[in-house]
Amino acid sequence: MSPRFDTLAIHAGVEPEPVTGAVMTPIFQTSTYAQPALAEPKGGRFDYGRTANPTRDALEASIAALESGKHGVAFASGLSAIETLLKRLSAGDHVVSEENTYGGTTRLFTKVLARLGLEFTFVDTRDPANIAAAIRPRTKLVHVETPTNPMMRICDLRAAAEIAHAAGALLSVDNTYASPYNQRPLELGADVVVHSSTKYVNGHSDLIGGLVVVRDDALAEELRYLQNASGAVPGPMDCFLTLRGIKTLHLRMGRHNANGLTVARFLAAHPRVDRVIYPGLASHPQHTLAARQMSGFTGMVAVDVGTLARAKALSESLEYFALAESLGGVESLVSVPALMTHAAVPEDRRTAMGVTPGLVRLSVGIEAADDLLEDLARALG
Ligand SMILES: *Cc1c(COP(=O)(O)O)cnc(C)c1O
Repeated sequence: MSPRFDTLAIHAGVEPEPVTGAVMTPIFQTSTYAQPALAEPKGGRFDYGRTANPTRDALEASIAALESGKHGVAFASGLSAIETLLKRLSAGDHVVSEENTYGGTTRLFTKVLARLGLEFTFVDTRDPANIAAAIRPRTKLVHVETPTNPMMRICDLRAAAEIAHAAGALLSVDNTYASPYNQRPLELGADVVVHSSTKYVNGHSDLIGGLVVVRDDALAEELRYLQNASGAVPGPMDCFLTLRGIKTLHLRMGRHNANGLTVARFLAAHPRVDRVIYPGLASHPQHTLAARQMSGFTGMVAVDVGTLARAKALSESLEYFALAESLGGVESLVSVPALMTHAAVPEDRRTAMGVTPGLVRLSVGIEAADDLLEDLARALG
């Protein structure tokens, strides 16, 4: 009997606690553990809080199940999850990365890891041929994000996996934007899934966290070694909160998907909106591919209202959409990528990617859709 996603969200990784029967995994807020005999820690592994923590164990088992993986490895942030994955590589090794990844990922690659000797090529992964053309003898990893932020570019994960594997490289997928409810990259051939659990996975805008999921035992061993050796581990409280968030992931995502589509359709029909970018609309140039590898299209919607002045007016006059960075929480948010998330990207590159001054990004929450539509109508009018 293999449980369905909604059941896994509630049960995976969470067993009644052995001492008291506590139904919810307790917050094991401890840095160390008493050992019953010399060099014989309980469970063979509970010797120090960085190395092992039962609350973290539960979160890792939960995300592994939700991503159709075998092993989860938890981190203090999405960026530390990605950084730790890259620490498998050595100076001189090469990575092919999607060019429109999360800004912090680009910064980590170009400003930090490149300085330590890793080499990067950035390509538009909407066309898998661009990945193949960038492969070198020392390419060890292909790293993609799909959909991307904020342009909602889609990468064909089956094609990307084939190209990476033919080159002897791994494919890692940042699945933050889609969430495992809508897209499970390991089922499509990817080797590694990474999340900023700060976003949809936790979903309540109250912590920073990162997760990695793999199937391969040896790769999991390596990642656990690096998790302990580098030490960017999440605290037990944050693991507990993320587990609590995951218990409603399916309910939240169902509503994010529905509200996202409703808002996208409403804006597409609005005279003051030049363009709506949403993979769930047939007008999205990669809608067919998106529909093939995703089961829903999230609450992320980008609209072009023409000018920076109009983007400013819209983003500042919405009532239910807070003007803020981040995404994926229960409450709606609005941002202007050119001045916020993508301000550090040079203007010519921004324009080339389509991040125009009038682009507004909405993270549609799970409020009543009619209230959100009324808010948008008023702010646009
Ligand atoms: C936010 C984000 C990250 C970084 O995660 P943090 O938890 O903020 O460190 C990485 N990838 C994507 C797609 C993101 O949205």
